[in-house]
Order: sequence, then structure tokens, then C-alpha cells
Amino acid sequence: MNPSQAAPGSQASLREANRLRVLETLREQGAMTQVEIAGSTGLSPATVSNMVKELDGAGAVELAPSIRNGRRAVLVSLATGNTLLAGIAFGDRDVRVAVATGPRDVIGRQRMPLPSNHNADEGMERAARLLYDLVEKSGKAMTDVKAVGVGIPAPVDSVSGQVGSESIMPGWRGVDVADELAGRLGAPVLVDNTANLGALGELRIGALQGVQDGVFLKLSHGIGAGLVIGGEVFRGSAGTAGEIGHLTIDEHGQICRCGNRGCLETFIGAQALGEALAVSHGRLTLRDIIARAQGGDVGCRRVLEDAGRHLGVAVAGLVNLLNPSVIVIGGQLALVGDLIVDPLRAAIERSAIPSAAASVTILSSELATEADVVGGIVAAEALHAASDALKVTIGSMS
Ligand SMILES: [Zn+2]
Repeated sequence: MNPSQAAPGSQASLREANRLRVLETLREQGAMTQVEIAGSTGLSPATVSNMVKELDGAGAVELAPSIRNGRRAVLVSLATGNTLLAGIAFGDRDVRVAVATGPRDVIGRQRMPLPSNHNADEGMERAARLLYDLVEKSGKAMTDVKAVGVGIPAPVDSVSGQVGSESIMPGWRGVDVADELAGRLGAPVLVDNTANLGALGELRIGALQGVQDGVFLKLSHGIGAGLVIGGEVFRGSAGTAGEIGHLTIDEHGQICRCGNRGCLETFIGAQALGEALAVSHGRLTLRDIIARAQGGDVGCRRVLEDAGRHLGVAVAGLVNLLNPSVIVIGGQLALVGDLIVDPLRAAIERSAIPSAAASVTILSSELATEADVVGGIVAAEALHAASDALKVTIGSMS
């Protein structure tokens, strides 16, 4: 899976594909001049020149003066700097890990399933194993990993660093994830909610670039929102802002895993979708439901359309409160596109203040299901930059 998956055929996806082609060619063939890269990739010299400039700016390649065929030339090679960043995103049923030299420059990624109701120890153990494996495969050492950004699909209390709910992810209760993982990985770790990391990833290199007020909706097993206010991810006073999945939609509704009643998640979380199809279809996972809906199964399509409608009720409230210019749909359910987006849009038009509804654009995530992992890398980069700045300050004081 491509981490920076843009809509097929879009300008962004074309640029991304070209960039990967240049990086792959350099990885396979070593240092080359821009003329040689153009010859080898079939891209135009102008495109290669732009691409190399961009990659150089991102620190992904190094440029060195050289002589080729008796003429001066610049050799382009993959950056051999020893700074690696890692992003880890825990889901309810899996963990995904990526190592990169920057948010646009993922050099390896892996996913491993996790049993439902796994505990924190098991999750962190698997994540650490994946990361060690990826670093080894890229020919680097764990000491090259300078910072790690970690996402958890639960509210994360920014004061205690712990999961900020007694009943969501009970196996992770009372664990200081940043501290524990930093010990296992030997690098500083920042922990945030996966929806916040998704917003961070989209802000930096995805559909929220340049957006001042926007929302990233993560629709997977659970439902979360990353709120962007004034061009920054808004976390609230204790870091738990954006818990849209636990917004009450029906105060007489079913009891939710958070202990509240009638939350949005009891309508459109993976468990609710599965239960709606249990009699007609038997036991289906979220992946099954999505695949069948894409294959034209009317029951699965109906359940997802209804989910879009319910989601619209909550999002219309969010539109009234926040007046965002862009809402980005991410997470696994984003894969069904208009099936969710059309009823969502209709519900917003029906329920939100007309001027707020008219000024909001709904977009699909440009990073597909990897927005949170990319956001983890963005967070790791900031953490690394901050620790470097701290070293400079301490150095100048001594
Ligand atoms: Zn709830």
C-alpha cells in the first residue's frame, strides 16, 4: 500500500508516483546525474529537476559535484544521513509501523494484526518487533531512530500521558505508553490520539494543507475527529478534544463501550454495522462489509448509507460549532467514498446553518488509511527538532 495515496489520476497522485519512481531508481542504481535519472525513469528533464529540488529540500537525497564524460555534473544519491523517524498507529485490531527520513519519505512499512481486547504490553511488544525488523531491513540501526510518534485509538490525556477513559481500550488503562515505549525503543516517544495524528498528516502533506479551520474524520472500528483550528490541531485542555464518536445521538439509545448512552459509535462503529447485518449476512468484519459494499451487496451498501446519515447528524453539529472550510474523510470507511459522503452531505445540508453548510467542502483523505502513521512521523519530526533545539540551548548554557 502506498502511504501517500492520492486520488488516482489527480495531480497530487501523479507527482507522488513520479517521486517514488525517482527514489526507487536511486535505490536500485545508486548515485546518478539528473540526465541519467530522466533516461532511466522516462520522466522529462524538467520534471526530474523539480523532483530532485523537492527531494533535496526534504533531505531525502544528497547532491555532490562530479565529472561525467569530461563535463561537470551533479550526482544525486539517496541521503545517507543517520536520522530515521518512526510512526506507529495502533488500531483496535492491528498495529501499523513506518520508518521514514521525513513525512514524505517513508522507506518501509509493515502491519500486524492484534487480537481484539489485546493488552498494552502485547501491542507495544508487536510494534517494537515490527520497528526493529523495518530498521534492520533498511540497513540502519535502532540508534538511528531519533524519535517516534505513536497513535492510539482512544482519548489520550495530555497531562498523565495515559488513555483518558476507563472503558475504552481497557487493556491499556493506567499505562504511560510514551514512557514504556521509549524504554523499549531507546528513542523519545510522543503519544496522541490517532484521529489527531491523521489531522496532522493531512495538514502537512495531505488534503488539509493550508487549511485554517478543518476536520479530519477517522472512520474505522471506532469514530474520531481531529480538529484543526487556526491551522493547528486543537487538543483541548486535557488533550481529549474531538471525541465525536462519543457524542450522544440518541439519549434513549443503546449503552456504549464508553458507558454513555446512544453515542454515534453505537450507530456507526464497526460493531454496530456488523450487528445490523448479523441476521441477513452472518458474522462480518469491517473489511468484509466494505469489500461486499464495493462489490454491490445491497444490504452492506444500505448499512453504510445509513451510517453516512447518522454521521451527518453529528457532523452537522460540528459544522455549526466550528464552521470548518474542509472536512476530510479518512479511515477504512473512507474507502467506500460517495456511499458515505452523499448521505453525509445531505444531512449537513438539512441540519447545519445554511451559510456554514454552504461553505464546507467534503474531501477524501489524500493519505488513505495511512494518514495516522504519516501524522506519527510528522509528530516524531517535531519531537526530534525540539530535542535538538534543547541540546543547542543546553550546549550554549554550559
Ligand atoms: Zn460512547
